Amino acid sequence: MGVKYSNKINKIRTFALVLIFAGIIIMYLGLFFQTNFILMSIIMFLGFLAIIASTVIYFWIGMLSSKTVQVVCPDCGKHTKVLGRVDACMYCNTPLTMDKSLEGKEFDEKYNHKKGKEE
Ligand SMILES: [Zn+2]
Repeated sequence: MGVKYSNKINKIRTFALVLIFAGIIIMYLGLFFQTNFILMSIIMFLGFLAIIASTVIYFWIGMLSSKTVQVVCPDCGKHTKVLGRVDACMYCNTPLTMDKSLEGKEFDEKYNHKKGKEE
C-alpha cells in the first residue's frame, strides 16, 4: 500500500465523528470516579469539551462545503467535492486538481499551501 490520499472533507468528518465518540467514552469513564467529585468533574468536562469541539468541526465542515466545487470524478464517474487546489475523490481517492497548471503533475498536498490563496 502506497501513500493514500483521501478527500479532505471526508477526513475532517471522520475526525469529528471520532471526537464525538471519544467525548462520550471520556464522560462515561468519569462515572467510574464518582467517589472523587473533582476528578469526575474534570473528566466529564474534558468529555464535554471533546463533544463541543466536534460540534464546532461539524459546523466548520458546513462552511467549507459551501466553498467546495462539485466535479465529476474522471475515474469512477461520481459527483465529488473538491476543496482547495488539489483534493482526492470522495469515493475512489483519485487525485483531482482545480488548477490547470498542476494537471498531470504528481499529486502533492503542498500545492494547497502555495501563496496566492483565492480568498
Ligand atoms: Zn472517484
